Amino acid sequence: MTKDPRKLAADLVARLGFRHPPVMVRKACRALRIPVKILPLDRDGYSVDVGGHPFIFLSSRLSRERLRWTAAHELGHVLLGHGPMMAADGTGPLERPAHVFAEELLMPSAFIDEAIGHFRSRCMRFAPEDLAPRFGVSLEAMRIRLETKKNDQHRKETKNGQQSR
Ligand SMILES: [Zn+2]
Repeated sequence: MTKDPRKLAADLVARLGFRHPPVMVRKACRALRIPVKILPLDRDGYSVDVGGHPFIFLSSRLSRERLRWTAAHELGHVLLGHGPMMAADGTGPLERPAHVFAEELLMPSAFIDEAIGHFRSRCMRFAPEDLAPRFGVSLEAMRIRLETKKNDQHRKETKNGQQSR
């Protein structure tokens, strides 16, 4: 069965009781009993599965945002059952789902909507710069997230428009 990475991440956020950003990724790993080790690695990070026991290794050289992103990405590989050894900077068809998982875990749709609503209700303009620090993600990650969100919204509206016609 293929798991929907976005739904998996959203369910995890709800199940672990996170209600506000930033979502604490390492706390999530602890709750799931997945050990996370920070070491001087030559790559951003990777996850391994030793006899059914997953471990996540992260590079000590990463910035806070990058560390959080890499941890979320690796957690995605683990929970999506991507195999015994996955690297954060790997390539191939399994990278995209891990990426989507990380995006939704760190920037849950519901939290993003809430943050946007907060600005809109006060008729305030906002930029990715206003949201990125609150969510503990890089500016680039937030920029992409808001762009995806806008496209999803647009798709939904177009679909609803077609249905009501
Ligand atoms: Zn990866």
